[in-house]
Amino acid sequence: MKSELANAPHRRLNILTGEWILVSPHRTKRPWQGKTESFEKREKINYDSECFLCPTNARMNGEPNPDYKNTLVFKNDFGALLNDTPLFDYTDGLLHAEGESGICKVICFSPNHSLTIPDMEVNAIIKVVEAWQNEFTELGNLKHINYVQIFENKGAIMGCSNPHPHGQIWAQHSIPTEIEKKTIAQKNFYKKESTSLLSKYIDQELSIGTRIISENKSFVTLVPFWAVWPYEAMIVPKRKMANIASLNTTEREDFAQQLKTLTQKYDALFNCSFPYSSGIHQAPTSGDNYEEWHWHMSFYPPLLRSATVKKFMVGYEMFAMAQRDITPEMAAEKLKSL
Ligand SMILES: [Zn+2]
Repeated sequence: MKSELANAPHRRLNILTGEWILVSPHRTKRPWQGKTESFEKREKINYDSECFLCPTNARMNGEPNPDYKNTLVFKNDFGALLNDTPLFDYTDGLLHAEGESGICKVICFSPNHSLTIPDMEVNAIIKVVEAWQNEFTELGNLKHINYVQIFENKGAIMGCSNPHPHGQIWAQHSIPTEIEKKTIAQKNFYKKESTSLLSKYIDQELSIGTRIISENKSFVTLVPFWAVWPYEAMIVPKRKMANIASLNTTEREDFAQQLKTLTQKYDALFNCSFPYSSGIHQAPTSGDNYEEWHWHMSFYPPLLRSATVKKFMVGYEMFAMAQRDITPEMAAEKLKSL
């Protein structure tokens, strides 16, 4: 690798979105006098009678949860999208709006109130992946649903209000901005090279090796060259698949194993239950041809140098572009070593 990439300020291109990020490796030695987050170590309990997500407890709408043994999926009664919204169009001069309809669901990963993904058995994580596959297929098949976003906000620092391990699934009529950007980049590449952008990218990363965190037969986990968050990571299937519904039994297990490995490394990094937002980007479900799409899962963790020091996206980042100090190579080396 060019030594400038490890020492000199430079910007890197995100080939999936077309956006740039500023990298300032020379700043990693500057002293920190800024804000530290308070970090509370929670005692681990299997069941909390006050929790809306624990088995047999009443949810916010009063309905009782079943005594579930693996995962539980239910519709969020206070979701950001409503299924029966009219798809209206509003244009008045320069003002434009569209009605948006959709469905928001919650998925509990485990009946155990304190069991997060890194602490779950691979077999239990496979059940989570199966639930994601089922929801993707079922929601994606609905006529008015054109995109399904699966994601998790983990930790109070990420705005997660309930410690019970759970994620969300938002399915909607329109195709979100991030997905549109990634569709354009992948389509352009596929037309020219007849192979997926991410197939070629992971081949290159595997031959270089410096940003690889872990790998098995079907998946590779790496810090992308263009990572924005200090310990951002991406899990990519080696086989080009437009969506997670195409995972076979072996791939499902390999995916679950990589999920466990990465999140265990995260917990070990600062010796805390590591917070992050994670999400799966996959092809829209509009019925159009998306053969260029290569699904992947991204992790955006906010922590910078300890369990209590958070990276802020403020100032220059709000007004100009994303910026980081430690290089993606430094982050990958650290995560790999854990
Ligand atoms: Zn609970």
